[in-house]
Amino acid sequence: MDKNAQPQKLAYIKTFGCQMNFHDSDIIAELLRQADFSIVEKADDADTIIFNTCTVRDHAENKFYSELGRYSKSGKKIVVAGCLSQIEGRGLMRRAPFVHAVVGPQYIYEIPSIIDAGKVVLTGDNPEFYLNSQPSVGKLSASVNIMYGCSRFCSYCIVPYTRGKEVSRKPEDIYNEINGIAQAGAREIILLGQNVNAYRYEETDFAALLKMVAKIPGISRIKFLSPNPASMTDRQIREIGSIPKCVPHIHLPLQSGSDRILKLMKRGYNSKTYMKKVEKIENYIKDAILTTDIIVGFPTETEDDFRQTLKIVGDVGFFNSFMFCYSKRRGTEASLMESQVDTELSKERLARLMEFQEKITAKKLTKYKGRIVSVFVDKRKKGGFSGRTRQDIVVNIESDKELFGKFVPIEIYEISKHTLKGREIA
Ligand code: SF4
Repeated sequence: MDKNAQPQKLAYIKTFGCQMNFHDSDIIAELLRQADFSIVEKADDADTIIFNTCTVRDHAENKFYSELGRYSKSGKKIVVAGCLSQIEGRGLMRRAPFVHAVVGPQYIYEIPSIIDAGKVVLTGDNPEFYLNSQPSVGKLSASVNIMYGCSRFCSYCIVPYTRGKEVSRKPEDIYNEINGIAQAGAREIILLGQNVNAYRYEETDFAALLKMVAKIPGISRIKFLSPNPASMTDRQIREIGSIPKCVPHIHLPLQSGSDRILKLMKRGYNSKTYMKKVEKIENYIKDAILTTDIIVGFPTETEDDFRQTLKIVGDVGFFNSFMFCYSKRRGTEASLMESQVDTELSKERLARLMEFQEKITAKKLTKYKGRIVSVFVDKRKKGGFSGRTRQDIVVNIESDKELFGKFVPIEIYEISKHTLKGREIA
């Protein structure tokens, strides 16, 4: 062994929460690699552990604390990043004194330099954060933040407190970054933002940004997450429909079908205006499929409110829904509301909603049997590959040919609970 060789630095990253957090973890991993760390698959093999935390629901927070406790006497360097760090700050270090650093979402670029420093707490707003260009992570499907934070303050949501107010990145920076990622081999781009379609930088709005991204050579599919119905304009819908590279999958978070609850949630739309947007999406975007997010058991939700949610789910026929019981978040307006719904009742409603959605999903998936769809193959699996249709439906493919990274016509022959199974057409 070379006497001068530096001992290898090994880091493990555990991510909780949403796609934004997973994307931040990709950035942290790349920054660490650039600082001569190797990223390992198991926490036990690492000398540094980064927890990228989430506070959107109680469940993610509790899971993090129980996992953190396991490392109290491990002697490993523990860095806690993400939304919980922003909220807890020094309190987190007081609760877990063995933690080495607490880093809010706007300080992730500092992580490599603080690992070898003393105890550090870096939270709050960081004006320099928006100036960073994100390191390319060399993937076929790459995510790019186009904006940060959210200024909508839905009454149940902690994001505006953890991620700060909405700030959109310069279109030139986004263009250059995607161009670089495309040249490194990416074929699919996912534009990310907490309220992604509220993007605006001077004269460039979200629709204009989509047009700009569509012109980047090498990019074949454009996706975006997560739009807010209140920020979805007719112009955006028309533009998405007119750009062949935009996938016809719109995730449109409904949250509730009751106008009374939507008002309490401060969502900025009601069931009628929501349904109008659905109608426009179906008219302007060919073969569009819709998915959604729903919160069950928001404070004061009655059986009648819940039935109105079921009605919209049935009327729209969502392809799939991300469904959760309401989780009380400290510091939000909804946490102070009286008449919080009993947990068991929320769970019972959630079970009913899930059962209903599963039936709709099964019916929708069945229509694919026998069809030939274009699949972008982006994962290797045992015995073959998996990929996604233009509408973002996962297709598992058995094949011994090299399909990775290709767009392949696939014949669907089997339907599973949430995915399709297909073979190459001869
Ligand atoms: S728009 Fe989304 S991220 Fe913003 S406050 Fe509402 S739920 Fe939270």
